Amino acid sequence: MKYYLGVDIGGTSVKIAVVSSEGEIINSTSYSVSYDNYKTPILDSTVDAVKQYLKDVNYELEGIGVSATGQIDTNKGEVIGTAGNLPNYVGSKIKERFIKEFNLHTTVQNDANCMILGEKWIGNHDEHKNIVGITIGTGVGGGIIVDDNILLGLKGIAGEVGHFTIKKDGKPCMCGNIGCYEQYASTTALLNKANEFYNVNLNGKDFFEKAHNNDQKALEILDEWIDDIAVGLVTLTHIFNPSLILIGGGVSLQQELLIDPLEKRIRSKIMPRFNDDLTIKACTLKNDAGLVGAVYFHISKS
Ligand SMILES: [Zn+2]
Repeated sequence: MKYYLGVDIGGTSVKIAVVSSEGEIINSTSYSVSYDNYKTPILDSTVDAVKQYLKDVNYELEGIGVSATGQIDTNKGEVIGTAGNLPNYVGSKIKERFIKEFNLHTTVQNDANCMILGEKWIGNHDEHKNIVGITIGTGVGGGIIVDDNILLGLKGIAGEVGHFTIKKDGKPCMCGNIGCYEQYASTTALLNKANEFYNVNLNGKDFFEKAHNNDQKALEILDEWIDDIAVGLVTLTHIFNPSLILIGGGVSLQQELLIDPLEKRIRSKIMPRFNDDLTIKACTLKNDAGLVGAVYFHISKS
């Protein structure tokens, strides 16, 4: 058995664990990277956290797989952009710094891609070679696996599924585009609509409780939202012909209220042959998928 270090850099915290060559997670811990409002750059906080973590680790490590938020140039292992605003983050040379600090072969991959890779590896989906995965949260992220390879594009930043236009005269997006998918399909979009109506500040749990209790307006808002999510996934299905569509993010726990009706809607809108052997389901790994996916990517590139 071989052992690797998995590091998952998010906007507020970094998760670190040893991951075995079979995908088993050992000693998972997380550290804040936002404790001083990013005055300490995220990369510096991450390096300190890894040093701290490694003090108590007695495994011989083969390498480091990093999952990181933002647009990652996978060739250089560098952060080259973000859709949001994280101070002192863009320009972080993660790979170079890690190799210097830890003297271990390091790979860096975008967090949404890692999540899908982790699900494929540990979520019992290894037979699927063509996967479309989206994560629904504050925004919409995603990863696309084509013929058993994660779609990277020229610099490694392909698969930015939250930012294709679904409404040409739609809402402005912080990416600079108009009518982006995430402006309609994110949990933020759902809650904005709900909060406007109820004139309160609901969180996702509150909203789904209302829907669960058959609140008519909540069900109406939910229905529209599912329609918007389906529009994007129908398009992605027609482009990539996946055998598996994975839905991640906190809301994916809502099997009856979200996943089931979403599946029905996607199946009713795609061309018939795209339905053949297509599985649609919620992600199962939740928080650890990024860590193991980063290591899976690392192993596949070693
Ligand atoms: Zn956008």
